[in-house]
Amino acid sequence: MYTCGHYIANAISGAVAARQLPLLDPATGLQQGAVAMADQPVVQRAVQAAADALPAWAAQTPLARARVLFRFRDLLQQHTDELAHLITREHGKVLSDARAELQRGIEVVEFACGIPHLLKGEHSLNAGTGVDSYSLFQPVGVCVGLTPFNFPAMVPLWMFPVALACGNTFVLKPSERDPSASLRMAALLAEAGAPAGVFNVVNGDRATVEALIDAPSVQAVSFVGSTPVAEAVYRRASARGIRAQALGGAKNHLVVLADADLDQVCAALLGAAYGSAGERCMAVSVAVCVGDAVADAMVGRLRTAIAGLRVGPGLQQPEPHLGPLITREHAARVRQYIDDGVSEGATLVCDGRKVTGEGTAAGWFVGPTLFDHVQPAMRLYREEIFGPVLAVVRVADTEAALSLIAAHEYGNGSAIFTRDGGAARRFANAVDTGMVGINVPIPVPMAFHSFGGWKRSLFGPLHVHGPDGVRFYTRLKTVTARWPEAGPGQADFVMPTLK
Ligand code: NAD
Repeated sequence: MYTCGHYIANAISGAVAARQLPLLDPATGLQQGAVAMADQPVVQRAVQAAADALPAWAAQTPLARARVLFRFRDLLQQHTDELAHLITREHGKVLSDARAELQRGIEVVEFACGIPHLLKGEHSLNAGTGVDSYSLFQPVGVCVGLTPFNFPAMVPLWMFPVALACGNTFVLKPSERDPSASLRMAALLAEAGAPAGVFNVVNGDRATVEALIDAPSVQAVSFVGSTPVAEAVYRRASARGIRAQALGGAKNHLVVLADADLDQVCAALLGAAYGSAGERCMAVSVAVCVGDAVADAMVGRLRTAIAGLRVGPGLQQPEPHLGPLITREHAARVRQYIDDGVSEGATLVCDGRKVTGEGTAAGWFVGPTLFDHVQPAMRLYREEIFGPVLAVVRVADTEAALSLIAAHEYGNGSAIFTRDGGAARRFANAVDTGMVGINVPIPVPMAFHSFGGWKRSLFGPLHVHGPDGVRFYTRLKTVTARWPEAGPGQADFVMPTLK
């Protein structure tokens, strides 16, 4: 049994709190620890620590800040096994997947290490005669990050390394389901040389989130989680007049054209639909097959392949393909979607409601589930399930596939599998999602590009990390400068024009 408190001004605090939530092991259902819920005074203390640290951190040279991040990156690598175990113990995903999410997060730290280059800004020599113009990218101030349970290391790492590199200070509120990785990363960042207050972690739930957004010193809010909460967070921050980016839920479609290599598509679908038990915002949950022949061949291959997948605890060796879902309630919700799919008339090809296998008797396991003949009106199709459930939808042509995607409320990612370059190019141009894969099932952009969806998958104009991340965490200032020779000044009563 352990207790997760908060990490404020480079010290652990608040392990004994008035309000705590249990931390449960999804693979066994047993309580393994507890997490303290930050109340208003704790939130104030964290925000104050970040505000106090801001002037000195913002004044450091970008290179000095980058050097802290270089050391942090090394420490993350040295502690990969430890962090991956923390992730698996609380989230449930298999250990190799926990390592992989950490690696994707480390890549954002590597991107942020290049901040002296990224903050160079723009410069126009002789914007007018004897006048130069240049831009400054200055820190925004105290930034807040609110993150979901499904990537307890990677999603926080999407945010705070870029924010800190740009000269901001940060308060992170990770998911109350799996906070340990964030607390450990905070200690590693302090070890790397981040001054006290530059990076703080408070644990909590809705009340903590609202107190953070409302704190007067907070100037920017980054959120990743479900769409209803993303929208509420975005509205609350916007109502205060501060900048916000809020990434929400998803329903990602993978379109299979008749000329695709169906064995490759089958392999891609298995990993993308069932990896991490489908608890990824970029998981593929809809396979759109163009033509009945493609659908019949795909469903046949998937049925055979699914029979070979193993479900089990994330720390089990040899490693299973997928672990448990995050909570008992969520597993029940996913089973309910399967029940509903059956009663709505979809064809249940593989049923994950009953799971057998070593280590699956007690935890919150749902097995890989496959539906065929899914219709757009079905709840199974319309809503984000966030579990290992793949829906096959049959369409006549690529146009119909594009219309289907365009009509869906979410627009996070999509993919097309084909050997036809022209068809892929047209799809990438026309599709109504923020991220597109061409023969790539989970097109999560690398750290030096930006990640974000469209429609109700993202509220706010800017994506996370990459160039958009730098824009989000900086305020643009444009300087117009003249150094005239000595002489009389001249009053100008018309709008100045530069010659
Ligand atoms: P969630 O919305 O329940 O929680 C996200 C964060 O918000 C947590 O820190 C939580 O404590 C807090 N929160 C929860 N309810 C709140 C409320 N009413 N008011 C204020 N704050 C609240 O999401 P989750 O279940 O942790 O994560 C799964 C969801 O996240 C899925 O919908 C998934 O698609 C989405 N997600 C999206 C992306 C993306 O990049 N678009 C990435 C990962 C996860």
